[in-house]
Amino acid sequence: MNTYMEQTEQYVLHTYNRFPVVLESGNGVYLKDTDGKEYLDFAAGIAVYALGYHYPGYDEALKSQIDKVMHTSNLYYNVPMGEAAEKLVKASGMSKVFFTNSGAEAIEGAIKAARKYAWLKDGQADHEIIAMNHSFHGRSVGALSVTGNFHYQEAFRPLMGGVKFADFNDIDSVKAQITDKTCAIIMETVQGEGGIYPADPAFLKAVRQICDEKDILLILDEIQCGMGRTGSLYAWQQYGVTPDIMTTAKALGCGVPVGAFVLNEKTAAASLVPGDHGTTYGGNPFACAAVSKVFDLFESEKIVDHVNEIAPYFEEKLEELMKKYDCITARRGKGLMQGLVIGNGVKVGDITKEALNHGLIVISAGSDVLRMVPPLIIEKQHIDEFVQKLSETIDVLTK
Ligand SMILES: *Cc1c(COP(=O)(O)O)cnc(C)c1O
Repeated sequence: MNTYMEQTEQYVLHTYNRFPVVLESGNGVYLKDTDGKEYLDFAAGIAVYALGYHYPGYDEALKSQIDKVMHTSNLYYNVPMGEAAEKLVKASGMSKVFFTNSGAEAIEGAIKAARKYAWLKDGQADHEIIAMNHSFHGRSVGALSVTGNFHYQEAFRPLMGGVKFADFNDIDSVKAQITDKTCAIIMETVQGEGGIYPADPAFLKAVRQICDEKDILLILDEIQCGMGRTGSLYAWQQYGVTPDIMTTAKALGCGVPVGAFVLNEKTAAASLVPGDHGTTYGGNPFACAAVSKVFDLFESEKIVDHVNEIAPYFEEKLEELMKKYDCITARRGKGLMQGLVIGNGVKVGDITKEALNHGLIVISAGSDVLRMVPPLIIEKQHIDEFVQKLSETIDVLTK
Protein backbone atom coordinates (compact mmCIF):
# COMPACT_ATOMS: atom_id res chain seq x y z
CA MET A 1 0.00 0.00 0.00
CA ASN A 2 2.84 2.39 0.92
CA THR A 3 4.39 2.03 -2.53
CA TYR A 4 1.23 3.28 -4.23
CA MET A 5 0.91 6.15 -1.81
CA GLU A 6 4.54 7.17 -2.19
CA GLN A 7 4.34 6.95 -5.96
CA THR A 8 1.23 9.12 -6.00
CA GLU A 9 2.75 11.70 -3.67
CA GLN A 10 5.89 11.83 -5.78
CA TYR A 11 4.21 12.27 -9.15
CA VAL A 12 0.71 13.65 -8.61
CA LEU A 13 0.31 17.32 -7.81
CA HIS A 14 -0.53 17.63 -4.16
CA THR A 15 -4.00 19.17 -4.26
CA TYR A 16 -5.61 16.65 -1.92
CA ASN A 17 -4.68 15.48 1.55
CA ARG A 18 -5.70 11.91 0.94
CA PHE A 19 -6.68 9.34 3.54
CA PRO A 20 -3.91 6.71 3.85
CA VAL A 21 -5.86 4.00 2.05
CA VAL A 22 -5.41 2.61 -1.47
CA LEU A 23 -8.76 1.41 -2.73
CA GLU A 24 -8.54 -1.36 -5.24
CA SER A 25 -11.91 -2.97 -5.86
CA GLY A 26 -15.57 -2.69 -5.02
CA ASN A 27 -18.47 -5.06 -4.61
CA GLY A 28 -22.03 -3.93 -3.88
CA VAL A 29 -21.70 -1.37 -1.09
CA TYR A 30 -18.24 -2.47 -0.02
CA LEU A 31 -14.75 -1.40 -1.09
CA LYS A 32 -11.48 -3.26 -0.58
CA ASP A 33 -8.04 -1.77 -0.21
CA THR A 34 -4.80 -3.26 -1.51
CA ASP A 35 -4.24 -5.03 1.83
CA GLY A 36 -7.56 -6.81 1.41
CA LYS A 37 -9.30 -4.82 4.15
CA GLU A 38 -13.00 -4.27 3.53
CA TYR A 39 -14.92 -1.01 4.05
CA LEU A 40 -18.62 -0.28 4.17
CA ASP A 41 -18.94 2.61 1.74
CA PHE A 42 -21.24 5.44 2.84
CA ALA A 43 -19.59 7.99 0.54
CA ALA A 44 -20.06 6.26 -2.84
CA GLY A 45 -17.16 8.16 -4.41
CA ILE A 46 -18.90 11.42 -3.35
CA ALA A 47 -22.48 10.56 -4.29
CA VAL A 48 -21.41 8.95 -7.57
CA TYR A 49 -21.89 5.21 -7.17
CA ALA A 50 -25.67 5.30 -6.73
CA LEU A 51 -25.96 1.68 -7.85
CA GLY A 52 -22.98 0.48 -5.83
CA TYR A 53 -20.18 -1.52 -7.40
CA HIS A 54 -20.87 -3.95 -10.25
CA TYR A 55 -24.65 -3.68 -10.23
CA PRO A 56 -25.99 -6.55 -12.37
CA GLY A 57 -26.21 -5.44 -16.00
CA TYR A 58 -24.21 -2.23 -15.63
CA ASP A 59 -20.73 -3.58 -16.41
CA GLU A 60 -22.11 -5.62 -19.29
CA ALA A 61 -23.62 -2.52 -20.91
CA LEU A 62 -20.27 -0.70 -20.68
CA LYS A 63 -18.31 -3.68 -21.98
CA SER A 64 -20.62 -4.09 -24.93
CA GLN A 65 -20.18 -0.40 -25.85
CA ILE A 66 -16.38 -0.73 -25.56
CA ASP A 67 -16.58 -3.55 -28.09
CA LYS A 68 -18.41 -1.22 -30.51
CA VAL A 69 -16.88 2.26 -30.21
CA MET A 70 -15.97 4.49 -27.26
CA HIS A 71 -15.53 7.84 -28.91
CA THR A 72 -16.61 9.49 -32.13
CA SER A 73 -16.53 13.29 -31.41
CA ASN A 74 -19.55 15.54 -31.70
CA LEU A 75 -19.12 16.02 -35.44
CA TYR A 76 -21.15 12.84 -36.03
CA TYR A 77 -24.18 11.16 -34.53
CA ASN A 78 -23.73 8.13 -32.32
CA VAL A 79 -26.23 5.59 -31.02
CA PRO A 80 -26.17 5.99 -27.19
CA MET A 81 -26.29 9.81 -27.10
CA GLY A 82 -29.82 10.13 -28.42
CA GLU A 83 -31.02 7.30 -26.21
CA ALA A 84 -29.45 8.78 -23.08
CA ALA A 85 -30.77 12.26 -23.89
CA GLU A 86 -34.31 10.99 -24.44
CA LYS A 87 -34.29 9.19 -21.10
CA LEU A 88 -32.93 12.26 -19.29
CA VAL A 89 -35.46 14.58 -20.93
CA LYS A 90 -38.40 12.28 -20.22
CA ALA A 91 -37.33 11.69 -16.61
CA SER A 92 -36.91 15.41 -15.93
CA GLY A 93 -39.79 16.74 -18.02
CA MET A 94 -37.39 19.24 -19.53
CA SER A 95 -36.55 19.76 -23.19
CA LYS A 96 -32.93 19.52 -24.39
CA VAL A 97 -29.66 18.09 -23.07
CA PHE A 98 -26.01 18.99 -23.54
CA PHE A 99 -23.64 16.30 -22.23
CA THR A 100 -20.40 17.24 -20.48
CA ASN A 101 -17.59 15.30 -18.79
CA SER A 102 -18.02 16.68 -15.30
CA GLY A 103 -20.19 18.71 -13.00
CA ALA A 104 -18.13 21.87 -13.33
CA GLU A 105 -18.48 21.75 -17.10
CA ALA A 106 -22.24 21.37 -16.74
CA ILE A 107 -22.23 24.57 -14.66
CA GLU A 108 -20.09 26.37 -17.25
CA GLY A 109 -22.59 25.43 -19.94
CA ALA A 110 -25.55 26.51 -17.81
CA ILE A 111 -23.92 29.90 -17.23
CA LYS A 112 -23.25 30.35 -20.93
CA ALA A 113 -26.80 29.36 -21.86
CA ALA A 114 -28.21 31.87 -19.36
CA ARG A 115 -25.94 34.66 -20.57
CA LYS A 116 -26.81 33.93 -24.20
CA TYR A 117 -30.54 33.91 -23.39
CA ALA A 118 -30.25 37.37 -21.85
CA TRP A 119 -27.99 38.66 -24.63
CA LEU A 120 -30.53 37.62 -27.25
CA LYS A 121 -33.15 39.67 -25.43
CA ASP A 122 -31.33 43.01 -25.17
CA GLY A 123 -27.97 42.67 -26.93
CA GLN A 124 -26.19 43.78 -23.75
CA ALA A 125 -23.11 42.06 -22.34
CA ASP A 126 -23.41 43.10 -18.73
CA HIS A 127 -25.75 40.52 -17.24
CA GLU A 128 -25.56 39.43 -13.64
CA ILE A 129 -25.99 36.09 -11.94
CA ILE A 130 -27.08 35.67 -8.35
CA ALA A 131 -25.54 32.74 -6.50
CA MET A 132 -25.81 31.59 -2.89
CA ASN A 133 -23.43 31.86 0.01
CA HIS A 134 -22.00 28.46 1.04
CA SER A 135 -22.83 27.04 -2.37
CA PHE A 136 -20.57 24.73 -4.32
CA HIS A 137 -20.65 24.50 -8.09
CA GLY A 138 -17.17 23.30 -9.04
CA ARG A 139 -13.55 24.35 -9.47
CA SER A 140 -13.30 25.70 -13.01
CA VAL A 141 -13.18 29.49 -13.17
CA GLY A 142 -16.83 30.04 -14.15
CA ALA A 143 -18.13 27.49 -11.66
CA LEU A 144 -15.80 28.85 -8.98
CA SER A 145 -17.16 32.35 -9.63
CA VAL A 146 -20.64 31.24 -8.52
CA THR A 147 -19.30 29.17 -5.60
CA GLY A 148 -20.03 31.05 -2.40
CA ASN A 149 -16.88 30.09 -0.55
CA PHE A 150 -14.31 32.84 -0.12
CA HIS A 151 -11.57 30.35 0.73
CA TYR A 152 -11.94 28.51 -2.61
CA GLN A 153 -11.99 31.77 -4.58
CA GLU A 154 -9.46 34.02 -2.91
CA ALA A 155 -6.21 33.14 -4.69
CA PHE A 156 -7.77 32.97 -8.14
CA ARG A 157 -9.23 36.42 -8.51
CA PRO A 158 -10.26 38.16 -10.64
CA LEU A 159 -12.92 35.61 -11.44
CA MET A 160 -15.86 35.90 -13.81
CA GLY A 161 -17.58 39.22 -13.26
CA GLY A 162 -21.21 40.02 -12.66
CA VAL A 163 -21.80 37.54 -9.83
CA LYS A 164 -23.64 38.56 -6.68
CA PHE A 165 -24.22 36.46 -3.60
CA ALA A 166 -27.34 36.06 -1.50
CA ASP A 167 -28.19 33.90 1.51
CA PHE A 168 -29.71 30.51 0.80
CA ASN A 169 -33.24 30.20 2.19
CA ASP A 170 -33.51 33.97 2.67
CA ILE A 171 -35.76 35.40 0.00
CA ASP A 172 -35.21 39.02 1.04
CA SER A 173 -31.48 38.68 0.56
CA VAL A 174 -32.11 37.33 -2.95
CA LYS A 175 -34.51 40.19 -3.74
CA ALA A 176 -31.89 42.67 -2.54
CA GLN A 177 -29.46 41.48 -5.22
CA ILE A 178 -31.87 41.60 -8.16
CA THR A 179 -31.37 44.35 -10.70
CA ASP A 180 -32.61 44.80 -14.26
CA LYS A 181 -29.36 43.15 -15.36
CA THR A 182 -29.98 39.90 -13.48
CA CYS A 183 -30.14 37.04 -15.97
CA ALA A 184 -30.06 34.00 -13.70
CA ILE A 185 -30.25 32.74 -10.13
CA ILE A 186 -28.22 29.61 -9.48
CA MET A 187 -28.45 27.32 -6.48
CA GLU A 188 -28.26 23.71 -5.38
CA THR A 189 -31.68 22.30 -4.52
CA VAL A 190 -29.95 20.74 -1.53
CA GLN A 191 -26.61 22.32 -0.70
CA GLY A 192 -24.03 19.54 -0.52
CA GLU A 193 -20.46 20.65 0.15
CA GLY A 194 -21.75 23.61 2.16
CA GLY A 195 -23.11 21.26 4.82
CA ILE A 196 -26.28 19.45 3.61
CA TYR A 197 -28.87 22.23 3.64
CA PRO A 198 -32.12 21.47 1.77
CA ALA A 199 -33.91 24.45 0.22
CA ASP A 200 -37.01 25.54 2.12
CA PRO A 201 -40.06 24.89 -0.05
CA ALA A 202 -41.35 28.43 0.49
CA PHE A 203 -37.97 29.89 -0.46
CA LEU A 204 -37.66 27.90 -3.68
CA LYS A 205 -41.24 28.74 -4.67
CA ALA A 206 -40.64 32.42 -4.01
CA VAL A 207 -37.44 32.38 -6.09
CA ARG A 208 -39.30 30.67 -8.93
CA GLN A 209 -42.01 33.32 -8.73
CA ILE A 210 -39.56 36.22 -8.95
CA CYS A 211 -37.80 34.52 -11.83
CA ASP A 212 -41.14 34.18 -13.67
CA GLU A 213 -42.08 37.80 -13.02
CA LYS A 214 -38.78 39.17 -14.27
CA ASP A 215 -37.87 36.55 -16.88
CA ILE A 216 -34.79 35.57 -14.88
CA LEU A 217 -33.61 31.99 -15.44
CA LEU A 218 -33.58 29.62 -12.48
CA ILE A 219 -30.61 27.26 -12.61
CA LEU A 220 -30.89 24.35 -10.18
CA ASP A 221 -27.70 22.42 -9.57
CA GLU A 222 -28.68 18.77 -9.03
CA ILE A 223 -25.16 17.44 -9.46
CA GLN A 224 -25.05 16.01 -5.94
CA CYS A 225 -28.68 15.87 -4.83
CA GLY A 226 -30.03 14.53 -8.12
CA MET A 227 -30.45 11.01 -9.53
CA GLY A 228 -32.82 9.74 -6.89
CA ARG A 229 -30.75 10.54 -3.84
CA THR A 230 -33.35 12.65 -2.04
CA GLY A 231 -36.34 10.44 -2.87
CA SER A 232 -37.26 11.79 -6.30
CA LEU A 233 -35.16 11.54 -9.42
CA TYR A 234 -34.45 15.26 -9.11
CA ALA A 235 -34.85 16.97 -5.77
CA TRP A 236 -36.82 19.89 -7.29
CA GLN A 237 -39.54 17.43 -8.28
CA GLN A 238 -40.57 17.40 -4.60
CA TYR A 239 -40.95 21.18 -4.50
CA GLY A 240 -43.54 21.76 -7.21
CA VAL A 241 -40.97 23.99 -8.92
CA THR A 242 -39.24 23.46 -12.27
CA PRO A 243 -35.91 25.02 -13.18
CA ASP A 244 -35.19 26.67 -16.53
CA ILE A 245 -31.81 24.98 -16.55
CA MET A 246 -30.75 21.98 -14.49
CA THR A 247 -27.26 20.61 -14.05
CA THR A 248 -26.61 16.95 -13.29
CA ALA A 249 -23.45 14.82 -13.01
CA LYS A 250 -22.02 12.65 -10.17
CA ALA A 251 -24.51 9.70 -10.17
CA LEU A 252 -25.60 10.33 -13.76
CA GLY A 253 -23.09 7.76 -15.03
CA CYS A 254 -22.71 5.87 -11.71
CA GLY A 255 -18.92 5.83 -12.05
CA VAL A 256 -18.31 6.95 -15.62
CA PRO A 257 -17.33 10.64 -15.74
CA VAL A 258 -20.32 12.39 -17.29
CA GLY A 259 -22.49 15.41 -16.61
CA ALA A 260 -25.13 17.40 -18.42
CA PHE A 261 -26.99 20.64 -18.43
CA VAL A 262 -30.63 20.32 -19.34
CA LEU A 263 -32.75 23.19 -20.66
CA ASN A 264 -36.48 23.75 -20.61
CA GLU A 265 -38.24 24.58 -23.86
CA LYS A 266 -38.08 28.36 -23.45
CA THR A 267 -34.35 28.37 -22.75
CA ALA A 268 -33.51 25.76 -25.38
CA ALA A 269 -35.36 27.81 -28.00
CA ALA A 270 -33.41 31.00 -27.31
CA SER A 271 -29.86 30.34 -26.18
CA LEU A 272 -26.99 28.22 -27.47
CA VAL A 273 -26.79 27.47 -31.20
CA PRO A 274 -24.08 25.87 -33.40
CA GLY A 275 -20.77 27.61 -32.77
CA ASP A 276 -21.67 28.74 -29.24
CA HIS A 277 -20.52 25.76 -27.23
CA GLY A 278 -18.71 22.49 -27.69
CA THR A 279 -16.72 19.65 -26.21
CA THR A 280 -14.53 16.91 -27.67
CA TYR A 281 -15.50 14.15 -25.29
CA GLY A 282 -18.88 15.32 -23.97
CA GLY A 283 -21.66 12.89 -24.83
CA ASN A 284 -19.35 10.27 -26.20
CA PRO A 285 -20.80 6.79 -26.84
CA PHE A 286 -19.11 5.21 -23.82
CA ALA A 287 -20.35 7.81 -21.33
CA CYS A 288 -23.82 7.87 -22.86
CA ALA A 289 -24.08 4.07 -22.80
CA ALA A 290 -23.53 4.36 -19.06
CA VAL A 291 -26.16 7.09 -18.68
CA SER A 292 -28.64 5.14 -20.75
CA LYS A 293 -28.11 1.98 -18.71
CA VAL A 294 -28.34 3.92 -15.44
CA PHE A 295 -31.78 5.24 -16.40
CA ASP A 296 -32.90 1.75 -17.43
CA LEU A 297 -31.73 0.27 -14.15
CA PHE A 298 -33.25 3.08 -12.08
CA GLU A 299 -36.57 2.30 -13.72
CA SER A 300 -36.51 -1.52 -13.78
CA GLU A 301 -35.07 -1.80 -10.27
CA LYS A 302 -37.30 0.95 -8.83
CA ILE A 303 -34.30 2.64 -7.24
CA VAL A 304 -36.16 5.81 -6.26
CA ASP A 305 -38.91 3.78 -4.55
CA HIS A 306 -36.21 1.96 -2.65
CA VAL A 307 -34.75 5.27 -1.44
CA ASN A 308 -38.16 6.25 -0.10
CA GLU A 309 -38.55 2.90 1.64
CA ILE A 310 -35.13 2.85 3.26
CA ALA A 311 -34.54 6.54 4.08
CA PRO A 312 -36.98 6.77 7.04
CA TYR A 313 -35.12 3.89 8.71
CA PHE A 314 -31.81 5.67 8.13
CA GLU A 315 -33.17 8.92 9.55
CA GLU A 316 -34.52 7.09 12.59
CA LYS A 317 -31.12 5.51 13.24
CA LEU A 318 -29.32 8.83 12.81
CA GLU A 319 -31.72 10.44 15.28
CA GLU A 320 -30.93 7.66 17.76
CA LEU A 321 -27.20 8.30 17.32
CA MET A 322 -27.80 11.98 17.93
CA LYS A 323 -29.58 11.21 21.22
CA LYS A 324 -26.81 8.86 22.26
CA TYR A 325 -23.80 11.06 21.50
CA ASP A 326 -23.25 14.62 22.74
CA CYS A 327 -20.88 15.30 19.88
CA ILE A 328 -23.73 15.00 17.34
CA THR A 329 -25.65 18.24 17.68
CA ALA A 330 -28.04 18.19 14.71
CA ARG A 331 -29.21 16.20 11.71
CA ARG A 332 -30.10 17.63 8.32
CA GLY A 333 -30.90 16.12 4.96
CA LYS A 334 -33.32 14.47 2.61
CA GLY A 335 -33.52 10.81 1.64
CA LEU A 336 -30.05 9.28 1.36
CA MET A 337 -28.31 12.66 1.48
CA GLN A 338 -27.82 13.16 5.20
CA GLY A 339 -25.59 15.25 7.42
CA LEU A 340 -24.79 15.07 11.12
CA VAL A 341 -23.41 18.23 12.70
CA ILE A 342 -20.39 17.37 14.85
CA GLY A 343 -19.28 19.48 17.80
CA ASN A 344 -18.67 19.50 21.55
CA GLY A 345 -14.95 18.93 21.24
CA VAL A 346 -15.02 16.32 18.48
CA LYS A 347 -13.78 17.20 15.00
CA VAL A 348 -15.51 15.77 11.96
CA GLY A 349 -12.09 15.15 10.38
CA ASP A 350 -11.18 12.87 13.27
CA ILE A 351 -14.34 10.85 12.70
CA THR A 352 -13.78 10.38 8.96
CA LYS A 353 -10.19 9.29 9.67
CA GLU A 354 -10.89 7.02 12.63
CA ALA A 355 -13.86 5.45 10.81
CA LEU A 356 -11.42 3.86 8.34
CA ASN A 357 -9.93 1.86 11.22
CA HIS A 358 -13.40 0.45 11.79
CA GLY A 359 -13.97 -0.40 8.14
CA LEU A 360 -16.23 2.55 7.36
CA ILE A 361 -15.91 5.12 4.60
CA VAL A 362 -17.73 8.34 5.39
CA ILE A 363 -16.88 11.92 4.44
CA SER A 364 -17.35 15.47 5.66
CA ALA A 365 -19.13 18.52 4.28
CA GLY A 366 -18.34 22.06 5.32
CA SER A 367 -16.24 22.37 8.45
CA ASP A 368 -18.34 20.40 10.90
CA VAL A 369 -20.75 18.11 9.09
CA LEU A 370 -20.44 14.37 8.70
CA ARG A 371 -21.91 13.57 5.30
CA MET A 372 -23.65 10.32 4.43
CA VAL A 373 -24.26 9.79 0.70
CA PRO A 374 -24.27 5.98 0.42
CA PRO A 375 -25.11 3.95 -2.67
CA LEU A 376 -28.89 4.11 -3.09
CA ILE A 377 -29.13 0.32 -2.97
CA ILE A 378 -28.27 0.02 0.73
CA GLU A 379 -30.49 -2.24 2.85
CA LYS A 380 -31.37 -2.11 6.56
CA GLN A 381 -28.49 -4.44 7.39
CA HIS A 382 -26.03 -1.92 5.91
CA ILE A 383 -27.56 0.89 7.95
CA ASP A 384 -27.24 -1.24 11.09
CA GLU A 385 -23.62 -1.97 10.20
CA PHE A 386 -23.04 1.75 9.62
CA VAL A 387 -24.48 2.60 13.04
CA GLN A 388 -22.27 0.01 14.69
CA LYS A 389 -19.10 1.15 12.93
CA LEU A 390 -19.80 4.84 13.51
CA SER A 391 -20.56 4.15 17.19
CA GLU A 392 -17.25 2.29 17.60
CA THR A 393 -15.53 5.23 15.93
CA ILE A 394 -17.09 7.84 18.19
CA ASP A 395 -16.49 5.67 21.28
CA VAL A 396 -12.77 5.61 20.49
CA LEU A 397 -12.68 9.38 20.02
CA THR A 398 -14.64 10.21 23.16
CA LYS A 399 -13.37 7.57 25.61
C1 LIG B 1 -19.46 17.96 -7.17
C2 LIG B 1 -20.31 19.12 -7.48
C3 LIG B 1 -20.04 19.98 -8.56
C4 LIG B 1 -18.80 19.83 -9.40
O1 LIG B 1 -18.75 18.62 -10.07
P1 LIG B 1 -17.32 18.09 -10.63
O2 LIG B 1 -17.69 16.85 -11.39
O3 LIG B 1 -16.46 17.84 -9.45
O4 LIG B 1 -16.77 19.15 -11.51
C5 LIG B 1 -20.92 20.99 -8.83
N1 LIG B 1 -22.03 21.18 -8.09
C6 LIG B 1 -22.33 20.38 -7.04
C7 LIG B 1 -23.57 20.62 -6.26
C8 LIG B 1 -21.48 19.34 -6.69
O5 LIG B 1 -21.76 18.58 -5.62
